[in-house]
Amino acid sequence: MSYVDNIIVDLEKKNPHEPEFLQAAKEVLDSLRAVVDRDGQYEKAGLLERLVEPERIIQFRVPWMDDLGKVRVNRGYRVQFSSAIGPYKGGLRLHPSVNLSIIKFLGFEQIFKNSLTGLPIGGGKGGSDFDPKGKSDNEVMRFCQSFMTELHRHIGPDTDVPAGDIGVGGREIGFLFGQYRRLANAFEGVLTGKGLPWGGSLTRTEATGYGLVYMVEEYLNRSGDSFKGKKISISGSGNVAIFAAEKAKELGATVLTMSDSNGVIYHKSGINLDTIKEIKLEKRERLTAYAKAHSDAVYTEADKGRVWDSECDIALPSATQNELNLDDAKHLTAKGCKVVGEGANMPTTREAAEYLQAQGVTFFPGKAANAGGVAVSALEMAQNSARLSWTFEEVDSRLKNIMIGIFHNADEAAKEYGKPGDYILGANVAGFKKVARAMLDQGLI
Ligand code: NDP
Repeated sequence: MSYVDNIIVDLEKKNPHEPEFLQAAKEVLDSLRAVVDRDGQYEKAGLLERLVEPERIIQFRVPWMDDLGKVRVNRGYRVQFSSAIGPYKGGLRLHPSVNLSIIKFLGFEQIFKNSLTGLPIGGGKGGSDFDPKGKSDNEVMRFCQSFMTELHRHIGPDTDVPAGDIGVGGREIGFLFGQYRRLANAFEGVLTGKGLPWGGSLTRTEATGYGLVYMVEEYLNRSGDSFKGKKISISGSGNVAIFAAEKAKELGATVLTMSDSNGVIYHKSGINLDTIKEIKLEKRERLTAYAKAHSDAVYTEADKGRVWDSECDIALPSATQNELNLDDAKHLTAKGCKVVGEGANMPTTREAAEYLQAQGVTFFPGKAANAGGVAVSALEMAQNSARLSWTFEEVDSRLKNIMIGIFHNADEAAKEYGKPGDYILGANVAGFKKVARAMLDQGLI
């Protein structure tokens, strides 16, 4: 058996109840076959065995009291996966589906994504099975304070710098930062996605969605094409989805669909982002409110229709993992979709991604395409260290350059390993090489 096959067998034996982590790890390992088969130093150094094992996993109890005075208990996690090239960096997710497998898959992906940005940040991820939906601001605050009461001893501006993810936006980062500051008695850049008056960076809110569109734009521009006149399908209606839609629209595209976990909106004349922002960012309502506000938009319940059923040139899945399956991929290609860019982490199943690539659809994996968020988080860390604030234009222009750089790195790595246009392979290989070099240089750690 090859080195990679041995690692996969061992991984399956050790982590039988972690399907999402196995899915993410196997995809990366498959891409690395060409690299490790060419060069025996990786096997000699036991590099892959070390890479797939987190440096540290922290799991903890999060007790909090609801508004009725009832004691509730959730489970908190922080997986500190790799600090080979910098402090652990990666978001916190608050969603009832959160478990160790999901946090490990996200932390593992984060290693390569962070490496691709070219910035000095390692990989980590955390979260809890707490559901902020339907909770009052006070309940969310009490939860966040309790979560940070444990987490604060494991993080720090040079150790581990968490950020937002699903269910963690500006409100939650505020409560988490307030509690950290109180416990640590220090005002330091320990979280990113902070509010502008207390250490946040301009463009952080927009970064993931804008970055996704910048990467696809670079690809289109290379062949003399652009977003102008393109029809776009987007899933989700959260942070990533909203700002991907905003940038795509700004570049002349029409966004036809958005979704939440209850249903899908199709709006032939183009989604109205002011309405979406009001519903999702201000009122925290469901997408049904969109159909009430726009009588020509069609709302379909999630169990009756899919966001991927309508025609589009470009699909940007930006909700959650495994939300675009093989059937969806078939619908997309049948309806003329030519490019898929992952705004979410691993939203496309492995079979769907392989099918899309086999049909000639250009596919950008999340670890490359959604790296803009963490890239601007690293720029927020740099501004915090220097006690400076850069302008929107300055951060946006750095973001764009980083996304263009990632596109070209992945493109060149794919060519070097004989699969031009395979950005899954390209991103995995380019992300791996830098981390592997650091691990080799630093000895058996
Ligand atoms: P938000 O919480 O802001 O939005 C998530 C969106 O996805 C919501 O519309 C939500 O609908 C929908 N969604 C979540 N879970 C499900 C589900 N199980 N089924 C259907 N729809 C679902 O999160 P973000 O926009 O921040 O994150 C979206 C994705 O992007 C995630 O995969 C995240 O890891 C990834 N990502 C985020 C980054 C960031 O900077 N925020 C950076 C890089 C990646 P509902 O409200 O009904 O739950």
